[in-house]
Amino acid sequence: MSPKPLLPLRDALDQLLSDAVPRVGTAEVSLNESLGRVLAFDQHALIDVPPADNSAMDGYALRSTDAGRCLPISERIAAGDPAHALASDSIARIFTGGEIPDGADAVVMQEDVVAKAELVELPGTIRTGQHIRAKGQDCQAGDRLLARGRRIRPQDMGLLASQGIAQVSVFNKLRVALLSTGNELQEPGSGPLPAGAIYNSNRPMLFGLLTALGCDVVDLGIVRDTASATLDALSEAAGRADLIVSSGGVSVGEADHVRDSVNALGKIDLWRIAIKPGKPFAFGHVGSTPFIGVPGNPSSAFVTFVLLARPYIRAMQGRSELSSDLLPARADFSVPNKGSREEFLRVSTCLKAGEVWASPYANQSSGVLSSVSASDALAIVPVGEMIELGQAIQLMPLDSLLY
Ligand code: AMP
Ligand code: MG
Repeated sequence: MSPKPLLPLRDALDQLLSDAVPRVGTAEVSLNESLGRVLAFDQHALIDVPPADNSAMDGYALRSTDAGRCLPISERIAAGDPAHALASDSIARIFTGGEIPDGADAVVMQEDVVAKAELVELPGTIRTGQHIRAKGQDCQAGDRLLARGRRIRPQDMGLLASQGIAQVSVFNKLRVALLSTGNELQEPGSGPLPAGAIYNSNRPMLFGLLTALGCDVVDLGIVRDTASATLDALSEAAGRADLIVSSGGVSVGEADHVRDSVNALGKIDLWRIAIKPGKPFAFGHVGSTPFIGVPGNPSSAFVTFVLLARPYIRAMQGRSELSSDLLPARADFSVPNKGSREEFLRVSTCLKAGEVWASPYANQSSGVLSSVSASDALAIVPVGEMIELGQAIQLMPLDSLLY
């Protein structure tokens, strides 16, 4: 029987995203705890910001019709002071953030006047409204400030605070169970490697990827390559998490028990994607808990995580932004893609004459994790295309794939 054809990445993504249901649970958290959390409801402005017209400069608040006159100072207004109405034939000394007194319609910078004994000589032309920050110019009560599904950033925290908002409603954190399959795996820190062993690099890498995305990780450690250990670990994971992510054991070898075990406890919905690296990626359900199986080769694990697991996780977290950033660049290399898989080369970038150029890491083998660590982007090589030196290509910057 000939194996099923590999699934194009776009189709796999569509299938995954149609399955991803945002978590319904929400919680109220303080502003400082809201960093990186996903907003559960649209957030509207409660007040006008600034709440009153105020000065953008240190200088004098005045009537613009008094341009060219010499006038005395009747009032001094610093930020935080209540302002009184401006007496006629006078000006107010004012400092940045001070409220504009009733009657004044402009501010003149202190550098632009001449002090003459008790009087201040004003410039000959003064524009109405100059150097005044208008009430509500930042936000007006009722404006939508932030939309549901947004991951809260530091600048959003500041914006919410400017409204007097101290608590926000966010989606609960997604709980993800993490499994590393492989008899050969040994944890770093547990002594030198015995013959045949390698250190478990996927576990901390996937822990980091999940944590950077804002997930709570239930790390279930190493799973030995037997059917019973795999079944036990998957059952435990399904009971303890909203999503299971495992590495390794999804190829076609005799030591690969993951797919059979998922099928025994639920169903593999999708397996084998037309990408390089990362072909053996699997997706399914253990009972009702979604399951993502990334390949064991560390570069494949990384690439399939960012291409497939990340958008799925973001959808489950309730995030509205699911697509990845693409950066136009030029190829500092030439390669033919003669295969039937879309390729994701690990590349470093540099700027030449205002354009981003990408050069691939020398060894693109799926087991070579240095290729990911040394690179700052994935360069997309479409199926069946020849990339010529200098050709326009698209990059996925790695830093933009980490949150
Ligand atoms: P597998 O997908 O289980 O067939 O593994 C493919 C390759 O990735 C093998 O060479 C494994 O030794 C290696 N590998 C699997 N899991 C890990 C891991 N957690 N850390 C580092 N390498 C791994
Ligand atoms: Mg294995």
